[in-house]
Amino acid sequence: HQPDVVLAVHGVESAYGNATALRGVSLSVARGSAVALLGANGAGKTTTIRAVAGLLGIHGGALTGGEVEFNGRPVVGLGSHSIARLGVAHVPEGRLMFSGLTVEENLEVGAAARTTPGADETRSWVYETFPILGERRRSAAGLLSGGEQQMLAIGRALMADPSLILLDEISLGLAPLVTRRIFEDLAAIREQTSTSMLVVEQNATLALEFCDSAYILENGRVVHQGLSAALRDDPQVQELYLGGA
Ligand code: ATP
Repeated sequence: HQPDVVLAVHGVESAYGNATALRGVSLSVARGSAVALLGANGAGKTTTIRAVAGLLGIHGGALTGGEVEFNGRPVVGLGSHSIARLGVAHVPEGRLMFSGLTVEENLEVGAAARTTPGADETRSWVYETFPILGERRRSAAGLLSGGEQQMLAIGRALMADPSLILLDEISLGLAPLVTRRIFEDLAAIREQTSTSMLVVEQNATLALEFCDSAYILENGRVVHQGLSAALRDDPQVQELYLGGA
């Protein structure tokens, strides 16, 4: 039996050298839900994602306090590959394709973290969800447009059959319409799989539309949290994060 909370982050502190990045961040992601992580540049969103994925070390950072539990199991110190194999997939900022590999080969890279059967079925479903990837399966990933590369990064994450996907700024460098299409695809993926998602996003309005709840970070701390609808109605949140909308 799987616990109702997929991800629980308790008082996480982290630093890059002497520079503190997170000052006690706590958050949780309920099974099947999508949770947004919002805040200005440098607030600590990417660092939080890295802490969950076990990737702080390769960026010159360290977790200096707190705990991370995935499906009720402490994962701090496990290393990124082990965490991936437990079912945490990561769509990193900037997409980070293997640009010389084909679309299909990139999907195979995602399947390497998989511990369940059914990779062929998942690949077919990824191609159904993103038909352009199927059409271009033998093209080098580096030849895809930005939006197509983002779809491939999501497809690669799905190949691992994860219970949680960490999505870091998928809208970066994409036209608003392309971003909206990709969020619609993610909504469809959620409906079909009930995969949980933790979504870092600059576009707070869009993120609050897509996610059930959100945390707003400022200077390495959570300063607001709640259901998306409540945050959208909060005048202070509107003023500071939603452009006064
Ligand atoms: P952005 O939208 O710019 O990515 P963010 O909210 O994701 O912002 P982080 O990238 O987590 O913020 O950065 C938090 C703090 O840590 C910032 O002060 C940033 O300068 C610092 N930082 C991030 N990555 C590194 C790194 N590799 N080395 C040193 N400092 C870093």
